[in-house]
Amino acid sequence: MIDNATKKIKVSASKDYDILVGQDILKNSGEFISNITKKCKVALITDDIVENLYAKTVISSLEENGFSVVKFVFNNGEKSKNLTTYARIVNFLAKNGLTRTDLVVALGGGVVGDIAGFASSTYLRGIKCVQIPTTLLSQIDSSVGGKTGVDLTSGKNLVGTFFQPSLVICDTKILATLPNQVFDCGLGEVLKYALLDKEIFDCFNKENYDITNLVYLCIKYKKDIVEKDEFESGARKLLNLGHTMAHAIEKLSKYTITHGVAVGLGLKIIVDNSLKHGYLTEKEYSMILNMILRVLGDTECDYSIKKLCKSSLSDKKRSGNTITLVMVYGIGDCRLVKVDINELWGYLT
Ligand code: NAD
Repeated sequence: MIDNATKKIKVSASKDYDILVGQDILKNSGEFISNITKKCKVALITDDIVENLYAKTVISSLEENGFSVVKFVFNNGEKSKNLTTYARIVNFLAKNGLTRTDLVVALGGGVVGDIAGFASSTYLRGIKCVQIPTTLLSQIDSSVGGKTGVDLTSGKNLVGTFFQPSLVICDTKILATLPNQVFDCGLGEVLKYALLDKEIFDCFNKENYDITNLVYLCIKYKKDIVEKDEFESGARKLLNLGHTMAHAIEKLSKYTITHGVAVGLGLKIIVDNSLKHGYLTEKEYSMILNMILRVLGDTECDYSIKKLCKSSLSDKKRSGNTITLVMVYGIGDCRLVKVDINELWGYLT
């Protein structure tokens, strides 16, 4: 049974599914999962850190609800998000005899979610996957919308699929064990949502914001976008706000700057330029800047706009001779602007 405090978001995409958001709901995951599938074999995919913290709770709940569980654990971190780990996972599924009526449960941050989702979408041409995201970033972003994949040595997320999960379970209580740096990485994405949506801005603008409500609002926003544009040909591009510059910052820093900090710095560049172009009023600019600085502290971008532009021209989001930026016209009013690649530097300085 889903209690009153647990919020349910229904997603209607190529597959319809629910996202559950609540406090201390991990222990009920077996029950939630039994509402979407018959008793079957479950392959729980997780990393070593999350395994120590939360696998037991999820496995007990699954077993209490009649599921049999096999577990695959890999080393935590982006370095594991590759074709080698992917091959180990699909071989593990085959060795354990998982069939199309069985289930994968991805328990972990974005790395676990992306690779387990990719394995689910390709093993036997697709078996069901339940996402149980355990980081702020994965709860508000990567577990929703169906993008899965792995990195290649030549770049991040270069191989992947669009594959919607069958259920997403977000327990905000488990965010309490995140190291600060990992939590802050998620705040970079929260900032992005706050500029895209006024309700999220107002929620996050409070000193003691309610984390469960914040996660809920961000997911609700992303769900609306995914329903409009599942395969990223239009509205979903808005979610790239701040990301063109962020990807360039991450790349130039050889990934020593975390994604969340890079998004914060990328947003600052976009917001500064939105003011310069007259899209934003001084009043809104200063409210947004305060929020960005609350997350970034005194961290500054060490790279010139020229260097960032050069680097961003190899971004996979570029198409032909133009690059699409998301500019801020107001809090909750962001718009796509196509810029000729030869004019990008001038546009941003
Ligand atoms: P992550 O999965 O590497 O997790 C970060 C660290 O936190 C890991 O060491 C992990 O073991 C640990 N951890 C996870 N949950 C914990 C918890 N509750 N308590 C303590 N420690 C915990 O990183 P991430 O930031 O969650 O995700 C980053 C990945 O997400 C990247 O690979 C990125 O490409 C991907 N991503 C995907 C999408 C998408 O749409 N699919 C969107 C954004 C990002």
